[in-house]
Amino acid sequence: MSATSARFDVVVAGAGPGGIAAAVVAAEAGKRVCLLDANAAPGGQIWRGLRAETARRYPHGAVFAAWMARLERSGCVVWSGSQVVDLAAPGRLRVESESESRDVEFERLILAAGARERVLPFPGWTLPGVMGAGGAQALVKSGLDPRGKRVVVAGSGPLLLAVAAGLTRAGASVQGIFEQTPLSRLAGLGLRMMLTQPGKLAEGARYRLQTLRTAYHFSSWVKQVEGRGRVERVWITSGGKDRALDCDWLACGFHLVPNLELPRLFGCKIVEGYVAVDALQQSSVPGVACVGELTGIGGLEKALVEGQIAGLSAAGCESMALALALQRRRQQKFALHLDRAFALRAELRGLPMERTIVCRCEDVTHSALSACASWREAKLHTRCGMGACQGRVCGAATEFLYGWKPADSRPPVYPVRVPTLAAETDAAAVARR
Ligand SMILES: Cc1cc2nc3c(=O)[nH]c(=O)nc-3n(C[C@H](O)[C@H](O)[C@H](O)COP(=O)(O)OP(=O)(O)OC[C@H]3O[C@@H](n4cnc5c(N)ncnc54)[C@H](O)[C@@H]3O)c2cc1C
Repeated sequence: MSATSARFDVVVAGAGPGGIAAAVVAAEAGKRVCLLDANAAPGGQIWRGLRAETARRYPHGAVFAAWMARLERSGCVVWSGSQVVDLAAPGRLRVESESESRDVEFERLILAAGARERVLPFPGWTLPGVMGAGGAQALVKSGLDPRGKRVVVAGSGPLLLAVAAGLTRAGASVQGIFEQTPLSRLAGLGLRMMLTQPGKLAEGARYRLQTLRTAYHFSSWVKQVEGRGRVERVWITSGGKDRALDCDWLACGFHLVPNLELPRLFGCKIVEGYVAVDALQQSSVPGVACVGELTGIGGLEKALVEGQIAGLSAAGCESMALALALQRRRQQKFALHLDRAFALRAELRGLPMERTIVCRCEDVTHSALSACASWREAKLHTRCGMGACQGRVCGAATEFLYGWKPADSRPPVYPVRVPTLAAETDAAAVARR
């Protein structure tokens, strides 16, 4: 059983803003480009669910519509619903879609796999009605109706305000926003933004105006969730005092972590949690560039400028790429400031109780994991990280809770269907011959 194959000059994995920008500029410069994404349509996280015709009604919609128009005109081949699961051979990706597995060959590869939320365990976090903050937003963008729901938004990061505003606009009753970071750190970030990122500051102010009826608390975090069969009450701790809030949903996420499975699979050098890249977004692996959240959590503008630099560089237009260096530096600095402002406080390590589940795919508790010395030992002894999510949820939590370094990616990096696995096995057998 062998996978069908296609060949392009440039392949871009991930069709969020970073990947779209990379693909567009490379295709406009005359390269044969393939842009592929696991989701049903291009857009990534921030533009999820937008359609070119109606996008202008939503925040960032006009930027989305402009890039989608360029993408359409560029001649770039777009494969949606296509997940990269392995490097089948040097210069050849294995991609799985709903109906088939196929290979795609590339001269240059640009990884733009984005980020996911960091979810931390606390008693009751596995009850129905508890979801990631961005997860709640994604569900609402995909059609879940929040009207009449009492929602508590908690955790850390700029996403909390965007999520609270989005839920409010969609008709939810947001009961409070609870940010673990102290107000003093956020005030420092705000001051810097006034000088360097006035647009982003204005965006934050707009979200706050949309949520003015909701109190925004700092140095506050969820301690526990209670309910019979689903969330009914959330306990919040703030200034040494605990209080309960009745609610229907808890939307809780602790900033973002990059999706490093693909860069790790290719052997890209990772420094302090992000892919290390040079001025042209090239990773330590020749021919492989990384952009967007993979190189630092910095948001839309960072993803767009880095994507353009990588795309121009892949098309041989280095001087045009280097002309964007100043913009890039400003956005990368902002990402560093975000990381510092939303660094997690040590008290959050004390949230899980002995019986709190940390790995929810395999039902592994905090007490079982506390007895392990490393991620590898935990996998071998408890099956932590061996379930359907393959450590994508519990991996970031255990890194924070126990200080474990994640292991290298092993192919296939996502759970795959049996025919894809068979193609993997065939390729391995051919390579051995
Ligand atoms: C849940 C969530 C919600 C967010 N909501 C907002 C918001 O409302 N406002 C805001 O300003 N910022 C938001 N962000 C931040 C936002 O992601 C960034 O600002 C920006 O979108 C980053 O762009 P990117 O291109 O780096 O990655 P992303 O937009 O994350 O795009 C990455 C893309 O790569 C694809 N991908 C990943 N792995 C593979 C693979 N193996 N094969 C194929 N495709 C793959 C994903 O499906 C995704 O479409 C959110 C982030 C998250 C995680």
